[in-house]
Order: sequence, then structure tokens, then C-alpha cells
Amino acid sequence: MSDVSQKGNEKGKMRFCASCGKQIEEDSMFCNYCGAPTRPQANRKEQVAPAPQYKANERTSWSQGNVPAEYKPISMWGYFGYELLFMIPCVGIILLLVFAFGGTQNVNLKNFARSYFCMFIVVAILVLIFMLWFGAYASSFYNYYY
Ligand SMILES: [Zn+2]
Repeated sequence: MSDVSQKGNEKGKMRFCASCGKQIEEDSMFCNYCGAPTRPQANRKEQVAPAPQYKANERTSWSQGNVPAEYKPISMWGYFGYELLFMIPCVGIILLLVFAFGGTQNVNLKNFARSYFCMFIVVAILVLIFMLWFGAYASSFYNYYY
């Protein structure tokens, strides 16, 4: 009898991963095998605040053009226009920095400006390397012939 209750106790201590079915320890937060969180909702001490989610009816209204300002899509010509804007010397890079670092509410525009800024840095480095290489080449050429 006592053996059975002991077993029952043991069984209460051990749990099984809901994700992969492997046995896991009671006090472990995550499954050792698959990494899935193991603690049931009721046991969880610190409740993680749920991420802000848009309600289903809100999502359906998105397609009707009722998109929040921060997620408003940019049209193809919009992107094209911004690209042209960023290409303007001096003014373009200032606008790019403004948009990339929080000057706009729109997530799409912010990400576009950031990616454009990364591209700008890559191109600038490539140009610099090319100019250094070309400069060295030109000077060696100059030394050879003159
Ligand atoms: Zn698991």
C-alpha cells in the first residue's frame, strides 16, 4: 500500500512535456529536450503581459483601409518617391537619418529608411575601398612612368 502511495507521490512530482512528451522535473521552467515552457499557466508566478494583439474585427477592418498609422503600407510609388528623396545629396541623408531614428510613426517607413541606411554605409565603404585601391594604383602607375 505504502509503496503505491509512494509511487503516486513520485508521479505527482514528475511531469511530462506537453510539447514533446518527455519526462521533465517539476521545478524546471523549460523542457530539457525541446525547450518548451513547462509551467502550467496557473503555477506561473510572474505573469507575462500578453503582447498587444489586434482583435479579429479590427484585423478585418484593416483590409478596408482602416490601418493604424504606424502600420500603414507604403505604396510602390511611395517607396520609389522616398528612394529618390534619399538620393538627394545632403538633404537625403538627413531625411534618411530622421526617418531611421524615430522621426516617423510608420514602422514600414522606419524599416525602409534603416535598410536604406545600411545600404548607404555598405556602398560608402565599397566606394572608399575602391578609391583607396584606385589611388594606390594610380600613384604606382605615376611612379612607374614618371
Ligand atoms: Zn519537450
